[in-house]
Amino acid sequence: MRVNETFVSLQGEGFFTGTPAFFLRFSGCNLRCPFCDTQHQTFTEMSEDEIVQEASRYKPRHIVITGGEPAMQLTQSLVDKLHEVGFFIQVETNGTLPLPEGIDWVTCSPKSSPVRKDLKMNELKVLYQGLGDDPEHFLESLPKRRSRRGLCLFLQPLDTGDEERNRIILRETIAYILQHPKWSLSLQTHKMLGIK
Ligand code: SF4
Repeated sequence: MRVNETFVSLQGEGFFTGTPAFFLRFSGCNLRCPFCDTQHQTFTEMSEDEIVQEASRYKPRHIVITGGEPAMQLTQSLVDKLHEVGFFIQVETNGTLPLPEGIDWVTCSPKSSPVRKDLKMNELKVLYQGLGDDPEHFLESLPKRRSRRGLCLFLQPLDTGDEERNRIILRETIAYILQHPKWSLSLQTHKMLGIK
């Protein structure tokens, strides 16, 4: 498997913010978002057993599998092996590709390409670009059953790399949420804290 990096840190975003976790970042993505700030292209080859062994060296039993797009490489056998040693598996996906069965928590951060109708997600985390952006259309594209039952909805201000613009987007995100309270705010707290 092509692994970009592994590390232990706190989950910085979304529902599990603050949770200690082992991060497995797969290399490669099927999309080319213009605002992508993840350096995921380089990789080291690791077998499934090597990944499980590396993850098991640390105390957290929450694993965040991310990318790139993890669905390009994640296998049923890796999911099963991680469960066998006691991991709670969270996957962060753009929602365009099928995932193995049995993942404990799926965080979908949709981009420009449509999310698969059959994706079983627990959390929808939409990057908000400021006033004029309409995150509701992501909900309209989901099957109604998923959008109504227990789906956590997060808006996360887009990091433009420009501090002034970021402040404006943050204010506009909060204003949007106050008008549309089914959404909650997700911040990239790892960036604020200066951790990975
Ligand atoms: S889906 Fe995510 S990792 Fe892939 S290009 Fe877009 S922002 Fe980058």
